[in-house]
Amino acid sequence: LEAHVVRINGGAAGEPGLVCVLHDITERKRLEKTRRDLVANVSHELRTPLTAVRGAAETLLDGALDSPQYARHFAELILRQSHRMERLVQDLMELARLESGESPPRLREIDAAELADSVLEGVTDLAQAQGVELGRRLPRDPLVFAADGRQVEQAVLNLLDNAIKYTGQGGRVTLAMEEDDGQAVISVSDTGPGIAAEYLPRLFERFFRVDNNRSRELGGTGLGLAIVKHIAQVHHGKVEVTSTPGEGSTFRLILPLSQAEDA
Ligand code: ADP
Repeated sequence: LEAHVVRINGGAAGEPGLVCVLHDITERKRLEKTRRDLVANVSHELRTPLTAVRGAAETLLDGALDSPQYARHFAELILRQSHRMERLVQDLMELARLESGESPPRLREIDAAELADSVLEGVTDLAQAQGVELGRRLPRDPLVFAADGRQVEQAVLNLLDNAIKYTGQGGRVTLAMEEDDGQAVISVSDTGPGIAAEYLPRLFERFFRVDNNRSRELGGTGLGLAIVKHIAQVHHGKVEVTSTPGEGSTFRLILPLSQAEDA
C-alpha cells in the first residue's frame, strides 16, 4: 500500500485537518518489476554475442586478418553471432506486438492439411541436418479453423523447431492435428530427452531454459515457447505440455474452431 497524506482546510468546526489516502500499488509494483527483469534479461542475453563479436573484430585487427584461414574463421563467428542477436531482436519484437494487443490476429480459414504441409516443409532441412525423422497425422475429414495464418504457423514452427533440436540424431518428431470437442488440437510429439516435471510450470516463461548452455549452443533465444503461449492466448486458446524424462515430450496447441468477431 502507498499512503498519501493530504492537508485539508477545515471540518465543520473550521479547523484544518489531515486525510490519509491509501492506494493499492501491488499491481504497479509488479509491472515495474516485470519491466526491470525484462531489461536485465535482454541486456544479459545481448552481452554474450556482443562480447564475442567485439573479441573477433579485435583479433582480426590484431593480425588475424593476415591469415586467410583465421580471417574466415573470425568473420564467420561475427556472422553467426549477428544472426543470433537478430533472432533475439525479432523474437522480442514479436512478443511485444503480441502483448501490446495492438495488432489483433487477422482471422482467416486455416486448412489443417495445408498448414501441416507448409510447416513441415519449413523444417525439412533442419530435421535432415539433425538426423530426425518427421511424421504427420491428420484426420480423414478436412479440419478447418479460424486463426491468424502467420501466427499459427509461427507457433507450430517454434514447437517443431524445439522438438527437432532437442531430440537430435535418430529421434522421431510427429505433427498431429485433430478436432476435439469444438477445438483444433495441434500436437508436436518427440522421442527426445523429455523434461523433468519440476521444470514444466516454468517452461513458457520468457528466457526460461532447462539447460542454458545447450539451448544457446542450438541457437535458441529462450523466447520460442513464450511466443507460442501468447499466440495461443490471443486466439483464446492454450498450449499444454506433457513429458516423460527419457521418453519424450508432447506439446499441444489447442485453438477454438471459430472465434468471436472481435477476437
Ligand atoms: P529455446 O530458445 O531455449 O529453445 P524455448 O522457449 O523455445 O527457448 O524453450 C524453453 C526451454 O524448454 C528450452 O531451453 C528447453 O530446455 C525446453 N524445451 C522446449 N522444447 C523441448 C523439447 N521438445 N524437448 C526437451 N526440452 C524442450
